[in-house]
Amino acid sequence: MISAKTALERLKAGNERFVTDQCLGNNTHRQRRSETVSKQEPVAIILGCSDSRVPAEIVFDQGLGDLFVIRVAGNVVAPSQVGSIEFAVERFGTELVVVLGHSCCGAVAATLGELQNPSTHRSPALHSIVDRIRPSVETLLETRLRDDPDELLHFAIRANIRSAVNQLQRGSHILERLVNSGKLVVVGASYSLETGCVEFLDTI
Ligand SMILES: [Zn+2]
Repeated sequence: MISAKTALERLKAGNERFVTDQCLGNNTHRQRRSETVSKQEPVAIILGCSDSRVPAEIVFDQGLGDLFVIRVAGNVVAPSQVGSIEFAVERFGTELVVVLGHSCCGAVAATLGELQNPSTHRSPALHSIVDRIRPSVETLLETRLRDDPDELLHFAIRANIRSAVNQLQRGSHILERLVNSGKLVVVGASYSLETGCVEFLDTI
């Protein structure tokens, strides 16, 4: 299995190809299908948002078997996400986890909206997502950012990514042990809908 550092470099190179319209193309799908029937060796685990405009394989120009992707609105961390990551880390030895948020995230915007104008009509299931985003963004409403909706959303999106990174680093005994021993690296990243660029918030 490749190192977290090499995996990160591969993702950065793939995003560069995506941004500049130089993607590798799909003429190797048939070969990769046959290569991955009996095994997979994903180079990175991605916890991303469900937003239709942020498919991890496309924005990182990766192919079949390259990424182990978990997508949920607002890229929130819940027990099923932690379990999925534990599974991938233990089964495949993948060393890099990327929490991939993005600009204009509707889940984060909805959470800010809920904090500013609480509704009584939201379903319990939707509340469970808002409630996981709320702790990382509500303090921003106590700052001057509350007067600038665009800046508020920008910083809230980053705070939510950072929160997810922190939660995963301590998400379970298994993940914490691997992080502490240097066998697992969790980094945050933000995708720009406007430019297609993924900005990594951490260096390794
Ligand atoms: Zn989103």
